[in-house]
Parts: sequence; structure tokens; C-alpha cells
Amino acid sequence: MQRLQIQVRTQCRRCGALMRADLDELVVRYGGSASLIDRQERCRMVACDGATFYLAARRYGGPWRILLDAAALRDGLSLCPPAHLALRQPAPVANAADLLVPGRL
Ligand SMILES: [Zn+2]
Repeated sequence: MQRLQIQVRTQCRRCGALMRADLDELVVRYGGSASLIDRQERCRMVACDGATFYLAARRYGGPWRILLDAAALRDGLSLCPPAHLALRQPAPVANAADLLVPGRL
């Protein structure tokens, strides 16, 4: 992903905050061959204890794909608040039906 310049974000299941993810930081944390599919992290928003999942886009301005494959993790998406940007602006819709890359990222 790093070599391909794929864009990565996180979205919180509890507060809906959509945040940029830094690929360099993720590589340091998990290694260059680690997968972000079905990986969840604690939300980085102050005062939120929600869990985040990852989204990715192949290019800047391209469609965002939700990186959830496990049915148990995808089932709860309908209960999540709408994703939002800074200042509570609504975010573009991401697609969970088609993962970015077959197999693992
Ligand atoms: Zn949150």
C-alpha cells in the first residue's frame, strides 16, 4: 500500500469521526506486510472510547472502500453513526461491498 500511494483513513464506530491514517506509522507499528482488513483500533478523538476500522482508496479522490471482511464486523456497520469530517461535515459514502484488494493488504 505504501509503495502504491494508497490513501488510508479510520472511521469510528461510536462517534463517526473520519481521520487520516499515516501509512509510514502503520508500517512501523505492524510491519510492511501486515493487513488492515478487519483490524480495529481505539478511536483517537478525545473523550471517545469507540473502536475504529480502516478505509482505503486506490488514489487521491477515488472511491473509499471499507476494509472489513468478517461478517461479524460488517454486521454492526448499520448501527454506526454517519461518518463525519472536521466541524461535523458529512463524509462521502464508503462502500463495504467490494474490498480494495482480494486477499489481504
Ligand atoms: Zn470516536
